[in-house]
Amino acid sequence: MSGRLTKLSRSVAGKRVIVTGAASGMGRATAHLFADEGARVAVVDLDPERVLAVTDEIRSVHGDDAAIDVVCDVADHDSLKALVARAVEAFGGIDVVINNAGISLINSAFQDEQSYEANWARTLDVNLTAHSRLIRLALPYLREAEGGGRVVNIASTESIVVTAGLAAYAATKAGVVGLTKSFAVELGRHGVNVNCICPGPINTGMTSGIDDEAKALYAKRRVPLRRYGDPEEVAQMTLSLCLPAASFLNGAIVPVDGGMSIRHT
Ligand code: NAD
Repeated sequence: MSGRLTKLSRSVAGKRVIVTGAASGMGRATAHLFADEGARVAVVDLDPERVLAVTDEIRSVHGDDAAIDVVCDVADHDSLKALVARAVEAFGGIDVVINNAGISLINSAFQDEQSYEANWARTLDVNLTAHSRLIRLALPYLREAEGGGRVVNIASTESIVVTAGLAAYAATKAGVVGLTKSFAVELGRHGVNVNCICPGPINTGMTSGIDDEAKALYAKRRVPLRRYGDPEEVAQMTLSLCLPAASFLNGAIVPVDGGMSIRHT
């Protein structure tokens, strides 16, 4: 007696994965998780030392071939082109793109014009335009991926419910949802599935400025699970969307928020 009763694999071993914003928070947890599951990971972020630190964490456990370090500002189109070229050179192709890099800058209706305009432009470049560019640049390789290419865009519950003073952030996260749906519809027939995750409040670099008491109070009031999430809890869902077994999932917008976004009272 041998074999299995089902045919779809739940392994990403051997997959070639780009993770942006991988030096911290959810990106780092995602890079760690894909590597733990046998994938090869391009660790992409702004700062060379932080990029190398995460790459070394992966290499020390899974060997030198498990990760490459790529310093890249995702807001810069030429840097994204160089990132794709580097990943293809190192891995021979790209199976998965995780568009995770993001920033949260103040954009208030009452802010002075100069800083409003600067924050608006930078937030759009990093949180939205970069996602669309990287998908397009990786597309020729994603289309060739065995079993189909996968894209996961990291949006936010701020695409559904919003915080005052974060206009560009909310606009970009809603934009990422729209981008996900549009590319999912267009690329499905080309063998590329595009899905999106909306994390709720997660303990990462982005939320490290909020003190523990304020986090606990917020979570108690707003999150049915009554806590902030851990980066790995988002990473686990991100990986799930990239399993060969998730082959019919396309254009999904998945909240990972402890139930926050569906809570009424
Ligand atoms: P984080 O600050 O810990 O990590 C974000 C990483 O992105 C950082 O290492 C940063 O250097 C990198 N990055 C920023 N701009 C970049 C650029 N131009 N080029 C390359 N890398 C860049 O924050 P996080 O919470 O892990 O954020 C990951 C994603 O999750 C973001 O898109 C964020 O908007 C989203 N998100 C976060 C939360 C939360 O509560 N933390 C909630 C919902 C969504």
